[in-house]
Amino acid sequence: MQNPDVIVIGAGAAGLMCAIIAARRGRRVLVLERSNKAGKKILMSGGGRCNFTNLHITPDRYVSGNPHFCKSALSRYTQWDFITMVEKHRIDFFEKETVSGLSGQLFCRQSAKLIVAMLMDECRTAGVEVRLNCEVEAVAHPTAAWTIKKGPGGKPMMPINPPEDGFRLKTSQGVFTSAKLVVAAGGLSVPSLGGSGIGYELAECFGLRLRPRSAGLVPMTFTGVMHEVCKRLSGISTEAVLSNERETFREDLLFTHRGLSGPAVLQISSYWQPGETIAVNLSPGQQAEKLLLSWKQLHPRALLRTQLDQLLPRKLTLELENLWWPEWKETPLAAWPDQRLGSVAQNLESWQLKPASTEGYRTAEVTLGGVDTRDLSSKTMQSKTDGLFFIGEVVDVTGHLGGFNFQWAWSSGFVAGNAV
Ligand SMILES: Cc1cc2nc3c(=O)[nH]c(=O)nc-3n(C[C@H](O)[C@H](O)[C@H](O)COP(=O)(O)OP(=O)(O)OC[C@H]3O[C@@H](n4cnc5c(N)ncnc54)[C@H](O)[C@@H]3O)c2cc1C
Repeated sequence: MQNPDVIVIGAGAAGLMCAIIAARRGRRVLVLERSNKAGKKILMSGGGRCNFTNLHITPDRYVSGNPHFCKSALSRYTQWDFITMVEKHRIDFFEKETVSGLSGQLFCRQSAKLIVAMLMDECRTAGVEVRLNCEVEAVAHPTAAWTIKKGPGGKPMMPINPPEDGFRLKTSQGVFTSAKLVVAAGGLSVPSLGGSGIGYELAECFGLRLRPRSAGLVPMTFTGVMHEVCKRLSGISTEAVLSNERETFREDLLFTHRGLSGPAVLQISSYWQPGETIAVNLSPGQQAEKLLLSWKQLHPRALLRTQLDQLLPRKLTLELENLWWPEWKETPLAAWPDQRLGSVAQNLESWQLKPASTEGYRTAEVTLGGVDTRDLSSKTMQSKTDGLFFIGEVVDVTGHLGGFNFQWAWSSGFVAGNAV
C-alpha cells in the first residue's frame, strides 16, 4: 500500500481490531507484523478454542495503576459488540462451566482459527493490508525516534532521517511513512508467540512513562519441601480459595513439577509480590473445624484421612498427613483431642505458602504494567505525541483470567480505530 494514513505495529487482537475500525472509516491502513502469521496468540489461546470475551466484563476485573482508565473503552465497545461480530460470522461458541458454576467465559466450540479468520475477513472487506514477516526496526518522528539497533555504549543507531511530519518506519521490508502510528506490539509474555519489548522502548523514546512490568497470570514455583510435595502431586487438582491482602479467588488449584498452577494460582499471581505469602483454603465453603468435629462424632473409629476423601484427592491428603499430623496418622478420630483437630482444620483453611518465584514470561499469559495510562487518553488511546497511539497488552491494563484480556484488546483497538 502506498502512503497509508495509518500504520499499525502488530497483527494481534488489538492491532487487527483497530485496523478494521479505522479502515471502515475510510482510512488507508497498513498493519506490519513481524511473524509469519497474524493473531498467533489468538490461535494458541484458551487451549486452541480462544476464550474471546466474558459475559461479565467490569472494570474491577482489571489491574492497572489507574483502575478507572479502562472504563471508557470497555463501555464504548462491549462484550456484546464483539459477540455480535462473532455471531455475524456464524462462529459457534459456549460458556464454560467452572467450579463456581457458569463463568461467563465464552469459547469457540470449534477452533480459535475461526476468530483469526473472522478478523482477517473483516480486514479484507474493509481494505486493510496486513504485511507478514515485516519487522519494524526503527521509527522516526520530528520530535523523537526509536531504533532496535544500538551502537557502542547502547546509543541508538538511527538508520532513517526524521520526516517533516508524521512517522517514518524502517522495516525488514523497506521504509513506510504515515500520519498516524498505532503501537499494538503486545507485551513480553511468551516470546515464541511474538512477545517483544519494542512497544515499551518506543514509548520511552517518545517520553511516555512506564509502570514496572512483570509476568501475570503465571504459574508459581517453590523450593525446598513444598517443591518436593508439588512434584509428587504433579497433575493433581482440587478446588481451593487462594487469597492475599489484596484479592481472593475460588477456583481450581493444580500441582505441577515446578509448583502450583491452575486458574486460582494464575489469578492470584497477578496480585502477588515476591516474598509474599499466599493463604490456601482447601475447604472452600465449609467450616473445616465444624466438619472435622462432626466426623469425630459420627465416625469415631474412622481415620482422618478416610474422612478427608470427601474433601480432597487421596494423594494430597497423604502429603498433608505427613506435613501436619504424622504422629496421629493411625489414630481413630475418637482419640483425637478437639484442639488437635482444630489445628488441622486451621491448616486446611489457611495453608500458608510462600512461592519462591513465578515461571516468568516464558509461560505467563500476560505482562502486568507497561505504558503508564497517565500519558494516554482513555477515550482515544492517543499519547502526548499527536498521532501516536498505544493499545492492547502494551498498556498498563491487565485483565483477570477468563476472556478479559482479549476484551481489553478489542475495546482499546476499537477506540483507537475510531480516533486515527
Ligand atoms: C498462551 C496464551 C493463552 C491466552 N489465552 C487467552 C484467552 O483465552 N483469553 C484472553 O482474554 N486472553 C488470553 N491470553 C492473553 C491475550 O492473548 C493477550 O492479552 C492479547 O493477545 C494481547 O493482544 P495484543 O494485540 O495487545 O498483543 P499480541 O497478541 O501479543 O500481538 C502483538 C503482535 O505484535 C507483533 N510485533 C511485536 N513486535 C513487532 C515488531 N517489531 N514489528 C512488527 N510486529 C511486531 C507480534 O508478533 C504480535 O503478533 C493468552 C495469552 C497467552 C500467551
